Amino acid sequence: MPRQPMVVGNWKMNGTRAFAVQLTSAIRDGINASTLAGEVLLCPPFPYLELVHGLVQGTAIQIGGQNHADRQNGPCTGEVSASMLRDLGCRAVILGHSERRTLFHESDTLVADKADLALQAGLTPIVCLGETLQQRQEKETLTVIRHQLQPLLPHMANHPQPPDSWILAYEPVWAIGTGQNAQTEQIQEVHAFIRQLLQEEIGSTIASGWRILYGGSVTPGNAADIFSLPDVDGGLIGGASLKADSFLAIIAALSNHR
Ligand code: PEP
Repeated sequence: MPRQPMVVGNWKMNGTRAFAVQLTSAIRDGINASTLAGEVLLCPPFPYLELVHGLVQGTAIQIGGQNHADRQNGPCTGEVSASMLRDLGCRAVILGHSERRTLFHESDTLVADKADLALQAGLTPIVCLGETLQQRQEKETLTVIRHQLQPLLPHMANHPQPPDSWILAYEPVWAIGTGQNAQTEQIQEVHAFIRQLLQEEIGSTIASGWRILYGGSVTPGNAADIFSLPDVDGGLIGGASLKADSFLAIIAALSNHR
């Protein structure tokens, strides 16, 4: 079955209520439903999820969270659970973003445990993987990716149904928010490596059905080339998802997926 490509907008900790209304409405009204070539997911900050959901209900746009807690419920002041995200209408959640790994010291194991909780709550985990600049310069990229994937594999084996059970996002840390996207050869090399590893560990039919997004300074100028790579199934977009025109142009580039 062909993989349905996807564009995910990660708003991070940006915006106000008014901004969320304006941006969501502009994206919703600007999408051409008849030519839309994939899925669109908006991931606003927690306080705006319900608002954004209300604005996109009945359209092709879905909503997702940017993170959730590492336990189901209970005494965990300030946290939000996977089931709460589901309750608000989320279909997926970004987990293990490099900002969470760096700023909040999230380990590979913690990210894998959170992904399992997401699945239990009925959310699709979008798990981010990626190397730092130093790791790339020291030619450790594939080793780092393998390590990050390792604790996910047993969870993946328990929830193997493509296409929705898992989504991975390759996001080289040095390309996030820097304006310096990875070269297409670098992107394809890592995506093919991830798919190959999944094929070996989980099985080829399943691995070929899971989507692998690229993230890191995707813009309207480079999206078409990136989305046309054989193992790339769309993008996880930060900065460019905060401007309706840019995000709409990136969504239009999904038609280059093959
Ligand atoms: C991100 O935050 O996941 C990201 C890819 O950001 P940007 O598009 O701004 O590089």
